[in-house]
Amino acid sequence: MRPEELAALITAEALGLGFQRIGFAPVEPWARHVLYERWLAAGHHGTMDYLAADAVARRDPRALLADARTVVTVALSYAHAEPTPIGPGPHGFIARYARGPDYHVVIKQRLTELARTLSARLGRPIASRACVDTAPLLEREAAHRAGLGFLAKNTMVIAPGLGSYILLGELLLDVEAAPSHEATPRCGQCRACLDVCPTGAIVDAYTLDARRCISYLTIESRGPIPRDLRPAIGDMIFGCDRCQEVCPFNAQAPAGSPLLAPRPGRARPPLVELLGLGAARFRKYVARTAMRRIHRAQLLRNVAVALGNVGGPEAISPLVQALGEPAALVRSHVVWALGQIARRHPDSSAQSALRSHRAMEKDPAVLEELDRFHVEMSV
Ligand code: SF4
Ligand code: SF4
Repeated sequence: MRPEELAALITAEALGLGFQRIGFAPVEPWARHVLYERWLAAGHHGTMDYLAADAVARRDPRALLADARTVVTVALSYAHAEPTPIGPGPHGFIARYARGPDYHVVIKQRLTELARTLSARLGRPIASRACVDTAPLLEREAAHRAGLGFLAKNTMVIAPGLGSYILLGELLLDVEAAPSHEATPRCGQCRACLDVCPTGAIVDAYTLDARRCISYLTIESRGPIPRDLRPAIGDMIFGCDRCQEVCPFNAQAPAGSPLLAPRPGRARPPLVELLGLGAARFRKYVARTAMRRIHRAQLLRNVAVALGNVGGPEAISPLVQALGEPAALVRSHVVWALGQIARRHPDSSAQSALRSHRAMEKDPAVLEELDRFHVEMSV
């Protein structure tokens, strides 16, 4: 089969499987890998050591499939409508991509199916490898090279007509499909995403310092969230979409794929309820969603920060209860949250609760947070 015919066949089959965009990149070392290496050298990846560990493999897709001749890139949109209203009490914000089924599973299953179908249509076995997010592949580069969408200043891929609320997958094949035209950057003079970022994480156009990004802080980071960044996190407990919300390419985005339909109540969950999730209920809450990436202590840490930012007196009692959590990471952020509420509501019981806890606490990090609060309140 000629490369053009194969590209047409793959496109038809991929659309039939529900993918909304398909493109074809040739297999060669990625030209922009050098920028990736510079990004790593600047330390912008924070504690995501795996990104540096397999940096060399990311230079050429053949590190993943030695005989690869084509990188098929696909996209599914998760641009579903925002729910309103959200009800009384403080609510958290979950990034749109994490509100529905785990996209790793949804996309990988379909890419595997695509490879099976192609093999059957070609009448012979083909070597393939399906990748979704976790494989060492520069997938945004692949999408740009395959013309699926352009690399944007907020470092996302924007597929014109679909927007940037998309999830990507790649299928490496040992057969040659005609490559698509590389995408053309279209951000122009716009810099809305740089200006809106609450933490200044987009340090320059096309450059993200992950260490400041709320997505990194609430998902990838397993340690304490830097104190100076906590207020900017607002109500966000898993990821952040601010730099996509302001993007003009998302203003008219069509409805997202039903394959990634959000679960009811996932967009803006009540924070107090989440703080009370025991281990079993937590496991159930994150099961079969992209949220399974974080541990319970991380989620409670994030919920505490959000309550510190948007909670009122109604959050004091659940926070005090969370001071009994075994993880010092959780307790230190709960202390911070109670301190924030005490500042906003000086007549509430938050301050006395912190004073009582001081007598029982043993962990140095939590004690430091407590002492910091008492020193600040006494000046
Ligand atoms: S996801 Fe949020 S914190 Fe990260 S770059 Fe975008 S706006 Fe900034
Ligand atoms: S907000 Fe503007 S600069 Fe940022 S990604 Fe969208 S178009 Fe590009």
